[in-house]
Amino acid sequence: MTADVGVLIVGGGPVGLAAAIEARLAGLDVTIIEPRQGSIDKACGEGLMPGAVHALERLGVQPVGHDFAGIAYVSGTLRVEHAFRSGTGRGVRRTVLHEALFRRAGELGVTWIAGKVAGLEQGDAGVTATGVGFPPIRADWVVGCDGLHSTVRRLAGLAGREVTGERRRFGIRRHFRVAPWTDLVEVHWTPEVEAYVTPVDAGTVGVALLGPRYLDFTSTLTRVPGLADRLDGADVASTVRGAGPLRQRTKRRTAGRVLLAGDASGYVDALTGEGLRVGFTQAAAAIRSIVGGDAQAYEREWMRATRDFRVLTSGLVAAARSPLRSRVVPAAVASPSLFGMIVERLAR
Ligand SMILES: Cc1cc2nc3c(=O)[nH]c(=O)nc-3n(C[C@H](O)[C@H](O)[C@H](O)COP(=O)(O)OP(=O)(O)OC[C@H]3O[C@@H](n4cnc5c(N)ncnc54)[C@H](O)[C@@H]3O)c2cc1C
Repeated sequence: MTADVGVLIVGGGPVGLAAAIEARLAGLDVTIIEPRQGSIDKACGEGLMPGAVHALERLGVQPVGHDFAGIAYVSGTLRVEHAFRSGTGRGVRRTVLHEALFRRAGELGVTWIAGKVAGLEQGDAGVTATGVGFPPIRADWVVGCDGLHSTVRRLAGLAGREVTGERRRFGIRRHFRVAPWTDLVEVHWTPEVEAYVTPVDAGTVGVALLGPRYLDFTSTLTRVPGLADRLDGADVASTVRGAGPLRQRTKRRTAGRVLLAGDASGYVDALTGEGLRVGFTQAAAAIRSIVGGDAQAYEREWMRATRDFRVLTSGLVAAARSPLRSRVVPAAVASPSLFGMIVERLAR
């Protein structure tokens, strides 16, 4: 038997849930398919930029966390800080973010199916999804929000060239029971990694390490001066989780009645910490274009919404991977107004 739905969202991560909420607020009938149950966790720096906090508020979602006022770059004794002009950011555990979005989606009548999509077929009657844990579903529209290694992206023929070898970057994260020592997200630069520290509540910080594959969390942390001392003796509050390769390219974001949003639609890097902000913007744009019946409008909005992320984050990652790496923090210290301008552009 084939079930009929208006919008089928593949992936119940934060972007899939935001897209589902947007769709319900627009009066559409929406179903999410997601294989994982309970409070979904994921390797993430967990810093919601001010733009992401605003986007969630607009959806009626206010996850509990720890507010932060801006970003600091640190390298040894060098430090530069920028306080957001556009509001405050918030560190939020991914499990808490998931629960808040899931609750709101439930209030609005989003249908949730436990299953994993493995096939998509487009025809005159819409798109039929097949997979594990559910009968075939025919949808007017499919929004692929299934993350970095998106199946929908591959099935719809939207995957771009794969990034291979040394150029691939990965992220791992762990939490520590320690009171935040600053109201900023700190990014510690070492020759090996960037260590991203986000307060997530009054007694816990998350640390995400970005760099090459197969990093050992504990030993790498000992080589982050300034941070290793702060965390020395602190109880660990989570297991190590990883994700990557981070860079994922797409040829386009739409194929017929299939749209991609969030990491599935292409991802640059976690270094600038705005994946969620960009993903929520994409979710809103995807649903607007579905309401307007114009998938090409989404392609244009996606390009506009991701421009700063694509240009500024790619530029910073290129510098981080080049012989200029050791000059990044000194350059930011020497030009705090330029550093502040870049942070503002990515935080909006
Ligand atoms: C180390 C690290 C640090 C980061 N730090 C930050 C930060 O500080 N701030 C920030 O804003 N962003 C950060 N990001 C980026 C952020 O985590 C992502 O942009 C965000 O998780 C994207 O959400 P999503 O819903 O698109 O994908 P995901 O969160 O990956 O969710 C995808 C969902 O799809 C489901 N799925 C997968 N395949 C299928 C299938 N076949 N069928 C059905 N469902 C499927 C998965 O189970 C998953 O639940 C960081 C990322 C990393 C790796």
